[in-house]
Amino acid sequence: MIIGVKFNETSSSGEHEISEIIAKAGDYVRIDEQLIVIESDKAAIDITSHIEGEVISINVSVGQKVKEGQVLMLIDTSKSRPIEKESPPVTVNAETNELNVELVVLGSGPGGYTAAFRAADLGVNTVIVERYPTLGGVCLNVGCIPSKSLLHLAKIINEAKEVSEFGVSFSEPKIDINKIRSWKESVLNGLTLGIKILANKRTVSVLHGEGQFINSHQLQVVNNGQKKIINFDKAIVAAGSQSIKIAGLPNDPRIINSTDALELESIPKRLLIIGGGIIGLEMANVYDALGSEVTIVAKYNQLIPECDEDIVRPLGERIKSKYKNIYYETSVTKIEPSETELTVYFSGKITPIKEGFDKVLVCIGRRPNGRGIGAEHAGIYIDDFSFIPVNKYQQTNVQHIYAIGDIAGKPMLAHKALHEAVVAAESVAGLHTRFDAKAIPSVAYTDPEVATVGVTEKQAIDSGIRYGVGIFPWAASGRSLSLGRNEGKTKLIFDLATNQVIGGGIVGPGAGDLIAEVALAIENNNTASEISSTIHPHPTLSETIAFAAEVYEGTITDLYLGSKPDKTTFVENLSPGKINFHTSDAVIELT
Ligand code: FAD
Repeated sequence: MIIGVKFNETSSSGEHEISEIIAKAGDYVRIDEQLIVIESDKAAIDITSHIEGEVISINVSVGQKVKEGQVLMLIDTSKSRPIEKESPPVTVNAETNELNVELVVLGSGPGGYTAAFRAADLGVNTVIVERYPTLGGVCLNVGCIPSKSLLHLAKIINEAKEVSEFGVSFSEPKIDINKIRSWKESVLNGLTLGIKILANKRTVSVLHGEGQFINSHQLQVVNNGQKKIINFDKAIVAAGSQSIKIAGLPNDPRIINSTDALELESIPKRLLIIGGGIIGLEMANVYDALGSEVTIVAKYNQLIPECDEDIVRPLGERIKSKYKNIYYETSVTKIEPSETELTVYFSGKITPIKEGFDKVLVCIGRRPNGRGIGAEHAGIYIDDFSFIPVNKYQQTNVQHIYAIGDIAGKPMLAHKALHEAVVAAESVAGLHTRFDAKAIPSVAYTDPEVATVGVTEKQAIDSGIRYGVGIFPWAASGRSLSLGRNEGKTKLIFDLATNQVIGGGIVGPGAGDLIAEVALAIENNNTASEISSTIHPHPTLSETIAFAAEVYEGTITDLYLGSKPDKTTFVENLSPGKINFHTSDAVIELT
């Protein structure tokens, strides 16, 4: 059947100009695929496909004015989806040591392997270049997975300790560090081997060695002095990032980074962690549970500074009593190593001038690997922070070279890399996929977990958004109390004009899993009433999301607000006998 794609923009009248035509005659388009962009007086309108089929004609041109109801293109839905061809294996010419591929992917982290696999599934002949012997990049080898494995052990140790308050006591845990290390390695080995098997099944070739562009169509790979040249049509740079070092610190094996910390070489008695961000706090959780006396030195006046202060506060309060010290607004100025300890000098608020530690873990952020891949030989622009800027199709300034993951900008998170990888791979294969996610969640797997997505309240204030907030304190959640925890909080931020959710922050056990619902609601422009009228299972922590929407609407029955709040009012904190109402301008205490 031949169906016309019409311009149906009822909210605006008059004529509008076609600014971009993305689909071409002969293209096979899928549901939700972007076809045309039209400029309206308010914003750009994306015309997407509601059907699958082959575009048989484009009835408009760029610059043309179109009216509501006008047919823009015709799609034949009887044409079946093209069969995705199998990508042929890549072979090296033994004489020249050269190989020709359609696509080279530099780096095998979550960005790299996902891009390579998706491209291969779309029939693109693909090779991955990786400098290390195992695939999986930082995430699988020295990041997300090893840290979460150790955090799982920390959770068990802590819960076993805390449950004594409720009448169940266990004896002190016996820590066998060698066994923990080999268990952690077995988790990583299983996953990295899995990636290798998936690559083999798709006939994606893997070339191990250090990759460097030598021009915009050739990459040189050096392994143990042996050189190979890859001649490529297109490239995806997924070379990731590395820990930032503090200049001027002595070269001492007791000063370590997150990769060393995850090696779990020893459990220091006194551990200083420099940095109050997510990675430092997760490592603090692990080492505290394994028996270290942990001190954190943070540059700012709150932990995880990108989050709203009220969302991070419960974490700060809980760890304040567990760890030896948290020094806020403080920097390390010098470290003097001696045989017995590292003497660390501080400068900042209410801190000792110096203190001795057995190990110092530096977690002050990560720098993209933009330098050192020969980008300049290919003409790829690298910015001052070593990121490679990209457009919505993940293309760099050199159109046939794409960049994804940590190297392509913040936030440096594995799920952002995966999403960008699919965009880049599909774009390489000729599809019109683009990066248009509204929000990227971020999770600190601390105890309690801290998770955010979309606009924070700080950002809403800074950008002048007229917003309202609903906060549900977990002290009123039966499920949270049954876990023996009451410090959690679910906070939703709404656009006052539309009542659509634009952001959320959750702190409490399992916050990282819960935030996915808020991300889905943001992507789908859900309103407060759509969230609150969705039946959430009871008793679960997921209910707190519906309750936060009810707080915003003023319909909550699981709390007593005292008076019906208007939409700029929200419950900020529930403490016995006292509820704080917070408007965008002021905090009013009702007792
Ligand atoms: P990477 O994973 O960094 O992979 C890049 C690959 O490219 C590497 O294998 C590298 O060897 C290779 N490479 C680089 N240059 C070259 C070259 N010239 N030649 C050949 N190969 C090269 N993110 C989350 O979302 N959730 C988490 O819980 C989480 N926890 C983390 C915990 C820690 C301790 C750390 C350090 C990071 C964590 N991250 C987490 C971040 C996450 O690991 C990164 O965002 C993710 O790995 C980025 O993926 P990528 O594909 O961009 O690059």
